[in-house]
Amino acid sequence: MSSTSMPVDRYEVAINVPRGPLTTSVDVPSGFVPIATIVPLARQLGEQASVEEVRGAVEEGATISCKDGCAACCRMMVPLSPPEAFALRDHIDSLPKAERDRFMRKIDDAKAALRHAGLLEPLIELAKTPKPLADSDMDALNHAYYALRLPCPFLEAGRCGIYEHRPSACRELLVTSPADLCQDLAHNAVQPLPVPIRVSTVLGLLWADLTDKIPRLIPLPLALNWATEHEPEGRRVWKGGDLLDQTLDKVWRLLSQTMGEKQC
Ligand code: SF4
Repeated sequence: MSSTSMPVDRYEVAINVPRGPLTTSVDVPSGFVPIATIVPLARQLGEQASVEEVRGAVEEGATISCKDGCAACCRMMVPLSPPEAFALRDHIDSLPKAERDRFMRKIDDAKAALRHAGLLEPLIELAKTPKPLADSDMDALNHAYYALRLPCPFLEAGRCGIYEHRPSACRELLVTSPADLCQDLAHNAVQPLPVPIRVSTVLGLLWADLTDKIPRLIPLPLALNWATEHEPEGRRVWKGGDLLDQTLDKVWRLLSQTMGEKQC
């Protein structure tokens, strides 16, 4: 279902992020839409909060080291929330066949490398598990994945091949430590900028509420398969305004946790 020609309602959103109040307008389709529709809106909020975080850090004297063409972090495991997996599937499906086929081949190559390293099965389990993984197990998977230094299947000539549609996790990693340190994220003391609104967590919680399942994060090389296997759920529709309300509820909940912790 496409929402591009649908009339929209404009909402004024006001939230308190760690760097102060943030107000913005978001256009939400008036009718019933699939879950992928909320992804760009949630990312818009996350990116505006991130702009405030960058502004505050720079005013305090920090330098953001991340620059166009640096892809040092594109060898980490990128987790997607289910709504983002559906949105990525929609984007890849919309590409010209040659481009789509090229990405699909690279995803197959990445899966073959993961299988060879004994990591594919644990990642498939992660995408399917009916109960959340312990933090220590998740850390072990992240370390094993990064140890492979496997380039993201969407990385092309050192640049993101899906830049406008890249997952939230990719948008949120900014560092203030020297860029050289990112060549070995496992052993160097990299300083990441705090993430005011972790959008994949927000969307994961939203999807869990809507489907009455556990919050789930899907490793990027498996996201398209996951979205295809769950296509009927991806086609379910909700009222656009309700999706925004529920998204904001999760944003507020996470922000109050983060900011409450900071004040303690
Ligand atoms: S999706 Fe793009 S930004 Fe994210 S890891 Fe892959 S190449 Fe890098």
